[in-house]
Amino acid sequence: MHTVTLIPGDGTGPEIADATVAVLKAAGAPIEWEKKEAGLQAYEKGGDLLPEDVLESIKRNKIALKGPLTTPVGTGFRSVNVALRKELDLYANLRPAKTYKGIQSRYDHIDLVVVRENTEDLYAGVEHMVGEDAAESIKIITRKGSERIVRFAFEYAVRNNRKKVTAVHKANIMKCTDGLFLNVAQEISREYPQVKFEDRIVDNMCMQLVIKPQLYDVMVMPNLYGDIISDLCAGLVGGLGVAPGANIGKDIAIFEPVHGSAPKYAGKNKVNPTAILLSAVLMLRHLGETNVAEKIERALAEVLARGTCVTYDLGGKATTSEMAQAIIDQL
Ligand code: NAD
Repeated sequence: MHTVTLIPGDGTGPEIADATVAVLKAAGAPIEWEKKEAGLQAYEKGGDLLPEDVLESIKRNKIALKGPLTTPVGTGFRSVNVALRKELDLYANLRPAKTYKGIQSRYDHIDLVVVRENTEDLYAGVEHMVGEDAAESIKIITRKGSERIVRFAFEYAVRNNRKKVTAVHKANIMKCTDGLFLNVAQEISREYPQVKFEDRIVDNMCMQLVIKPQLYDVMVMPNLYGDIISDLCAGLVGGLGVAPGANIGKDIAIFEPVHGSAPKYAGKNKVNPTAILLSAVLMLRHLGETNVAEKIERALAEVLARGTCVTYDLGGKATTSEMAQAIIDQL
């Protein structure tokens, strides 16, 4: 039995978290949940955005499944998501994008993995106003940060029988920061001769992914490019409703969908539970529970392929809980 911290999150988070807990239970996944509130939910009850007991629970269990947390735009309110990744040094953000039969998308047979650096770059939060009419943000890239993320991408490629790693950068313009990232990627790639290595400039990478995504496999990149490219990849395979993710550190990992809290649908039992369920599947694989992970993914793939009980974003009329029940019935 594995004890896992469960943070249902804000907005539509609790609905999709409930759906996932029900599916994992029906599949017989050996998980005991430790449920915790963070973000707006905790704040509105007079607590901290990131209560100490949430951090303690994750540090103790070393593993968490998390729904989306809301970050109001342009206020002093810092992103709890970014704070969690920093506090726990979850340096690798893994975002697979795969096509499933039945989901309308521009291409078939896409199987891409974005490995995004999660702690540095413009997300280091070193930003200030320069007088009243200018603002400055500092981009930080280090050798240590680049080495560990590139190594993570190669190790992932080897473990998962992937053939190629592409480093994504803008080193033609940002010669220091992205130049360092690219140099490190080239150095580390020599330690993995069995995996093909290449690099792409980020703007070209976007175009290539839109016109010939089949040419790519695992991609590794600094934080900001990873944020953007992973949404692009989610769009290629059917949208945010089906895009899972994981934040992984040395010995702690938090699994969460790529999408946010979709507040306009909160409480409406409307959004797609697939992204968080696939995040839970990644989590089960990470825990070594491969059989139950495969069982859930197969049941989900069947429901998606049939297409009769899917949510609005996939062209269906089912509610979140109806889709979860269809997956449970399939199990
Ligand atoms: P969002 O991902 O919440 O929603 C964008 C749109 O995508 C929604 O309006 C909806 O149409 C669609 N969508 C998202 N999830 C879906 C699902 N499961 N099923 C079907 N459709 C879905 O992005 P946003 O509106 O930019 O952000 C809302 C809030 O979420 C913000 O406060 C933002 O900071 C936060 N956010 C949190 C995380 C996280 O917790 N990791 C990630 C991104 C955004």
